[in-house]
Amino acid sequence: MFYIGCHLSVSGGYEHMGIEADSIGANTFQYFTKNPRGSKSKDPTPEDVHSLVTFMKEKGFAPPLAHAPYTYNPASKDESIREYTKEAMAKELSFLEAIPGALYNFHPGCHVGQGTDVGIKHIASLLNSILRPEQNATVLLETMAGKGSEIGSRFEELREIIDLVDIGVRGKVGVCLDTCHVSDAGYDIASDPEGVFSEFDRVIGLERLRAIHLNDSKNPLGAHKDRHEKIGDGYIGLDGFKRIINCEAVRSLPFYLETPCDVEGYGREIALLKTLRTD
Ligand code: FE
Ligand code: FE
Ligand code: ZN
Repeated sequence: MFYIGCHLSVSGGYEHMGIEADSIGANTFQYFTKNPRGSKSKDPTPEDVHSLVTFMKEKGFAPPLAHAPYTYNPASKDESIREYTKEAMAKELSFLEAIPGALYNFHPGCHVGQGTDVGIKHIASLLNSILRPEQNATVLLETMAGKGSEIGSRFEELREIIDLVDIGVRGKVGVCLDTCHVSDAGYDIASDPEGVFSEFDRVIGLERLRAIHLNDSKNPLGAHKDRHEKIGDGYIGLDGFKRIINCEAVRSLPFYLETPCDVEGYGREIALLKTLRTD
């Protein structure tokens, strides 16, 4: 099965996202756990979430991917920011108990001058204080482009975080690989995705890879910029995406678009990607 979806707005409610995804040919979707613009989104009702879960089951969807807000920074040197991030993430994870198989993606964070090692310790200690062995959701560290003091642009850094997570909850931690970010970080995913995935396997282990963010990049390999481009219009290109989505290592994973598109545009990209997929 080719699981392909895109980023949708949660503002119309949960069931609405499922219906919207289905209407554009998607069989999964991503959403922000809070609206990024700070608009007051109402807390979802249990009924709405239940309707979504029923709808997704009927349609054979892959689990949705909840994306933490960009304002969180688990690696911050400011203890109050780490504390705020921790409380907010714990609350969101408890909410995801209602969605079977839910995935929760977050940016590892920026160390803002403290150094990568200190940042990595903060991230792992935050995870150790919120993860529970019996929880439903899997928490995903996103691979980053490496702009500013971002942690997680090297697979080795993600491996170090995972290694510091307590063994009893380590099974709740995975990785979401963003194609724009890894290309910006210097991994040649456009021309050699097999090589990148085997490097991922060597450093982290492919069993940790649970989701792919499918984005083209406005900038060349190694640019460390993080500017997403529409599929085929950037430096990864259609040939690159054809190679990526058909790679044996990842073809059964869910793919989520985060390109600069409206919902109709996402529908066109999904249709295009389906033509590139060989089954
Ligand atoms: Fe992200
Ligand atoms: Fe991403
Ligand atoms: Zn990005």
